[in-house]
Amino acid sequence: MNVHDSERLASQLDVMGYEKTEQMEDADIVIFNTCCVRENAENKMYGHLGILKSLKKHKPNIKVAVCGCMTQREEVLAKIKQSYNWIDIIFGTFNLHKFSDYLHTNLETGKTVIDIWKEHDEKALAEEQGIVAAAGREIRHKAGINIMYGCDNFCAYCVVPFVRGRERSRKAEDIISEAKALAADGVVEILLLGQNVNSYNHEGITFAALLEMISDIDEISRIRFITSHPKDMNNELIETMARLPKVCKSLHLPIQSGSSAVLSKMNRKYTQTDYLALIDRLRIKMPGLPITTDIIVGFPGETEEDFEQTLDVVRKVRFSGAFTFLYSKRTGTAAATMENQVPDDIASERFKRLIDTVSPIIYEDNKRLEGFASNVIADEYDSEKNIYTGRTDCNRTVHFKIADGSPVSNLGKMFSVMITEGKPFYLMGEKV
Ligand code: SAH
Ligand code: SF4
Repeated sequence: MNVHDSERLASQLDVMGYEKTEQMEDADIVIFNTCCVRENAENKMYGHLGILKSLKKHKPNIKVAVCGCMTQREEVLAKIKQSYNWIDIIFGTFNLHKFSDYLHTNLETGKTVIDIWKEHDEKALAEEQGIVAAAGREIRHKAGINIMYGCDNFCAYCVVPFVRGRERSRKAEDIISEAKALAADGVVEILLLGQNVNSYNHEGITFAALLEMISDIDEISRIRFITSHPKDMNNELIETMARLPKVCKSLHLPIQSGSSAVLSKMNRKYTQTDYLALIDRLRIKMPGLPITTDIIVGFPGETEEDFEQTLDVVRKVRFSGAFTFLYSKRTGTAAATMENQVPDDIASERFKRLIDTVSPIIYEDNKRLEGFASNVIADEYDSEKNIYTGRTDCNRTVHFKIADGSPVSNLGKMFSVMITEGKPFYLMGEKV
């Protein structure tokens, strides 16, 4: 979601005539698009701002903007205003589309522009979105579309509902016209984005119906979506996903913990048994479906037995990827005041054991793919190594050789790729 937001900002800069630079020292403007889900990101931002401050001394014309959900946390905003008053533009997640206006104002007046509004009406919602022009996208033939904003789930550890507001689904027709515009712009792969896409609903149009509608756009050959919440993954959606060939056969399904006791304290609204039964239902319809997940280690009250259950589920489901997080206490959330916060050393030790359990499974499964062919869209090209990188239908990264054609003709095309070697976290292959 943040990558997508950054692309929207890059699009606006492109329209204003700016170009991307790899060196911060060469930049005329630096934007920090922040995320406040975990505390260490906050600390990193302050570190970066420190570096920027000295750069700005030598190069006073360099513009610095901070946006994203961190600015919507009052204590962060107060700290930025007080200790970093040299920052030029500060805005939140609700008004990304106004960034170029802010920049114009700042360039004209030289005054700091601060705009953090939190109300979000339908009109603003429609206005806010806009297609991300090719220049803003890292990879031209792929694009993300926000289908909804905010979240109503209030998982006990999570700050998202507080900073991103209540769940709001966009109008299906707006989403479809955006998808069509992107398709006309050369996009073949669409990533539908939302905190909980499964609960998308606009005037009775469900997420399954939306998948169906996007599938009908001829030029689009692949559809992915993140994130799914296990409690909202219903049979209609499973069947639609299985039936539509353009919908990729891989799923990101955060479990957070394998212990039902912890899940209950997290307010996730499913148990370990529910999650495992859901995996069975999915894999009956889509055999071998690769599933990736998010796991939090060290949630308040997590015992050794609770943690062992997480490891157990990891072994049972055989996740093909896992984003693992050390629990980070966020003020304002229900978990922040819970008893039995897990000491850092215990959490770190569990974290290491979790990685040691997840990694060999991914490696073994990658090895098993050797000798099989997969459909891969060439996303990137490395001219030094003469190698392409793309993703399989099941969302695994493949580095592969293409003997014919040029990067211009090959990028964005789908190839049948023979997997020659499974590596710990990616695959090697050759165009068949
Ligand atoms: N809406 C999505 C993603 C939310 S944020 C979902 O529900 O899955 C992405 C991930 O960050 C979460 O899945 C969770 O694993 C992690 N996360 C959120 N808050 C956290 C916290 N306070 N500490 C550690 N990890 C956290
Ligand atoms: Fe946070 Fe839970 Fe909402 Fe995901 S579903 S954004 S983890 S509150």
